[in-house]
Order: sequence, then structure tokens, then C-alpha cells
Amino acid sequence: MLEIRDLHVHYHKVAALKGVSLNVPSGGIVTIIGANGAGKSTTLRSISGLVRPSKGEIHFEGERVDHLAPEQIVARGIAHVPEGRRVFPDLSVEENLRIGAFLRSDKEKIETDIEEVFHHFPRLKERRTQWARTLSGGEQQMVAIGRALMSGPKLLLLDEPSMGLSPVMVQELSRVIVAIVETGVPVVLVEQNANLALRLASYAYVLEVGSVAVEGAASELRANDHVRRAYLGA
Ligand code: ATP
Repeated sequence: MLEIRDLHVHYHKVAALKGVSLNVPSGGIVTIIGANGAGKSTTLRSISGLVRPSKGEIHFEGERVDHLAPEQIVARGIAHVPEGRRVFPDLSVEENLRIGAFLRSDKEKIETDIEEVFHHFPRLKERRTQWARTLSGGEQQMVAIGRALMSGPKLLLLDEPSMGLSPVMVQELSRVIVAIVETGVPVVLVEQNANLALRLASYAYVLEVGSVAVEGAASELRANDHVRRAYLGA
């Protein structure tokens, strides 16, 4: 569904990605794990058109998309939930969710999609009129994911959804991520929590200083010595 070939990204003269290639099939979860600064967020930002690669190509459903503007990429069906959530604090939960549908005109489907978001996240339904700024971190993460779902995506990019959340909240989010994938929307999951990511994903890429150091089935990576020592605390 998504193919990245030999991607290079520079911030001024500093190389953040040095030839990353990866594939996302049309179902399941692909994870990108790695230490701080390895280039995980930069990979997601390149897919959504927020940074321009200096070399390489990104193809989505057979179309080259690395020259498109972010809103054109959203319109193609790629939704990105950035690190740190970024909800609109002075809008209600429901207003935040509806903003995700800003490119859509299919009013009836928007209403069924908002009900589906409330089905995934019943807490948001209870709090639909509440200002987003009054929500807990985990609830704000739910709003951010719900807002991305409201664009009607074919592919969802999640940047560190577990960051700063309690174990109970991480468990709840994991359940919802799996439920979203079961509705037919594949997920690219960027995580520093490698234990979590390798449990949820079917395939994994390990980024180290801007390059793919290891890749393979998540179950194989869980047994890989280097991965175990460097990322799983073994
Ligand atoms: P983290 O988990 O800390 O977000 P990451 O794996 O997502 O790490 P990136 O945020 O993609 O890593 O950063 C990759 C490299 O690019 C790092 O060396 C980082 O300092 C650098 N970088 C990221 N954003 C910028 C920017 N806007 N300007 C300059 N350098 C940047």
C-alpha cells in the first residue's frame, strides 16, 4: 500500500534519514522503533508531506506522493497523529473530532464515522461537550486519534501514542488500535516502547541514526539478540 524507497531527509545540513526503505501492506500494523533522534518522526513527517525528502521516493497505492502538499496527502487517505497530541484546547471534544472531517462533504457518512469514533472511545462520547483542555493526557490522545479517523483514512500514522500514559491507558489505547486495524485501516506505529510495539505489530523496522538497522517479522525481532539488548531491556 505504501512504499518508501531510499529516503534521505536533511534538516539544513544535518542528515536525519540516510536511505530508509520500507513497505506497509494493506492490512495490519507495521512498527518503527528506535532511540531518540533515530529518525522515526521524520519518516512519518515525510510520508505526510510535512518535510521534503532530499532524495528517494514515496509511493501510496501506486502513486508517487513525495511531491504533494500535506492536504493533498490527507485527501489521498493518509492521516497522521503527531507526537504530543496537539488537540485544540478551547474547542470541545466533538468540535475537535469534526475538524478532522474538514476536507469531506459526505455529511451522512461523517455522522456515522463520529458514532464509530464514540464506539471506539466511549469516554469521548461522555465528554463530547467538554473542552479538550480539561481532558487527561490519555483522553487527549484518544481525541487526536479520533480526529484522524474523522478524515476517513485508508492508512493511519501514529507517532508515540503511548508516550506519558499510564499502563492502564496504554492498554486501552492498544485495544483500540487493534480494533481500528480490524476495521480495515492499516497502521504505521512509531514507538519508543518497543515491548508494546513488537507485541502489536506484525512487521517491524528498527531505525538507528537515520538508517534501518534491522527489519523483520515482529516475532523474530522479539527474539533478536541486538533488539533484545538495545530495546527490550534484556
Ligand atoms: P524522538 O523519539 O526523539 O522524536 P525520532 O526518532 O522521532 O526521535 P526525529 O525527530 O525524526 O527522531 O529526529 C531525527 C534527527 O533529526 C535528530 O537528530 C533530530 O535532532 C533532527 N531533527 C528533527 N527535527 C528537526 C528540525 N526541525 N530541525 C533540525 N533538526 C531536526
